[in-house]
Amino acid sequence: MKIYRSVGLFKKKIDEIKKSGKTIGFVPTMGSLHEGHLSLIRKAKLETDFCVVSIFVNPTQFGPKEDFKKYPRDLKKDISMCRDVMADVLFIPAVSMMYRDDFSTYVTVDGLSKKLCGISRPYHFRGVATIVLKFFNLVKPDVAYFGQKDAQQVIIIKKMVRDLDVSTKIKVMPIIREKDGLAMSSRNKYLTSIERKKALVLYESLKLARSLYKSKEKKAFYIKGKMRKLILKEKGINIDYISIVDPDSLNEADKIGKNTLILVAARLGKTRLIDNIVIK
Ligand code: AMP
Repeated sequence: MKIYRSVGLFKKKIDEIKKSGKTIGFVPTMGSLHEGHLSLIRKAKLETDFCVVSIFVNPTQFGPKEDFKKYPRDLKKDISMCRDVMADVLFIPAVSMMYRDDFSTYVTVDGLSKKLCGISRPYHFRGVATIVLKFFNLVKPDVAYFGQKDAQQVIIIKKMVRDLDVSTKIKVMPIIREKDGLAMSSRNKYLTSIERKKALVLYESLKLARSLYKSKEKKAFYIKGKMRKLILKEKGINIDYISIVDPDSLNEADKIGKNTLILVAARLGKTRLIDNIVIK
């Protein structure tokens, strides 16, 4: 596995791969890798000829009071994990390479970016869309792999790709969970052992929603109420939102039906966690 830190050398490599006719699979990450990330890399390896993984903690998607500086970074471990799953190239550009001092162009996916997580993180998705498009221009991937864990992110990326005629195909992979159900996340490292136990209630609330739906309860306000009640049984959890939405528009749904997205976001101490399920 070759590691590139220079944008110039990386671009040369991509030109070479493109000329050889190989398909490129791309997995963008912020590092501090776990099984969730690896599942995307494995899929890219399976479906494309050449797998590029990027590690870049993107400053423009963090708010001024958010955790950009203390976001978990463990490059040595990440490199060895990427080697183990046989990524072909690891691209680790410095912030100064991706954002020159006079950087001033951003991609905004209107509407979708202001909902759900966008309410408490107003510039988050602008930062995400901008860096993803920049990476797409550098990596020129045939297929890019994203996790359902960040459901709103992937909906926004798909919209950007459609609106801007980007030719990369977007593939979404299921959420990888710990044995006890907690959705894997680099931010889980922030949790104390007590918070870690409390965090399980988020997935429990999503499972409750699904079982209510299966027992023929369809009313979204009723189900959200039950979810809220369950989560609030755990002291010290601040709910950011509990939402039941249409997965294309992210508009709140009155009723759960097939293909409804149920999401929850909450803070435990200083850690913000998100999780979701899709009703199939
Ligand atoms: P991040 O490093 O958090 O920006 O995540 C990089 C990619 O990995 C994104 O597409 C995430 O949605 C995906 N991802 C993160 N956690 C998980 C998980 N638990 N299961 C599946 N994909 C995940």
